[in-house]
Amino acid sequence: MEFEVKRNRLIEGLRQHDISERVLAAMKSIPRHLFVPESERENAYDDYPLSIGCDQTISAPHMVAIMCDLLDIQDGMNVLEIGAGSGYHAAVMAALAGSGHVYTVERIEYLASFARDNLKKAGLKNVTVIVEDGSLGLPGFAPYDRISVAAASPGILETLTDQLKFGGKLIIPVGKHYQELYLVTKINGLKKEAKGGVVFVPLVGKKGYSDWI
Ligand code: SAH
Repeated sequence: MEFEVKRNRLIEGLRQHDISERVLAAMKSIPRHLFVPESERENAYDDYPLSIGCDQTISAPHMVAIMCDLLDIQDGMNVLEIGAGSGYHAAVMAALAGSGHVYTVERIEYLASFARDNLKKAGLKNVTVIVEDGSLGLPGFAPYDRISVAAASPGILETLTDQLKFGGKLIIPVGKHYQELYLVTKINGLKKEAKGGVVFVPLVGKKGYSDWI
């Protein structure tokens, strides 16, 4: 079956999670098969995580959709992602940010260059991949309207909330092995909403986990 047919079928299936039309359209515009290793191409439009090497995974499409929907990314926004991996989630956020920009931080050099190549193949121009410890955020381009964390964090990190604009939102999985997904809004303090259980690879770094096993 052609990739486009498979992609459309996947997007239709995501409706069961009550995903907004804006996010579905953004996901329809991004060819996920360009973001997975050659050996996984045929599985690119199945709704589960896939290995991208270095013991890391590209998140399941429904997880990307749910996180993008909760984050409510609008045209022109300045967005930060922690954990670029394949670059796919950043690409979907870049489609939503339109004239805005997505900065995505990755600690593993190999994956950062994998993400850059994939984003180039997909023709995305408003994404920058940077090799850094994302547990410290990315102060150079702060403040951000939105921050999306794609790795399990020990807590709602102050390094990240400090880099949010007033009214800005952060989405972050918190916990070891199994996590609760938190949506945090910065308004006269921090409004924290638990959005359900998830499973992510660990955030490794100064403010991340050093003892995952
Ligand atoms: N968003 C990705 C999937 C991310 S998997 C995608 O769409 O494919 C989580 C990623 O977070 C992994 O690539 C891992 O290397 C990275 N990571 C873990 N700790 C990090 C840190 N402190 N800073 C930056 N990246 C980190």
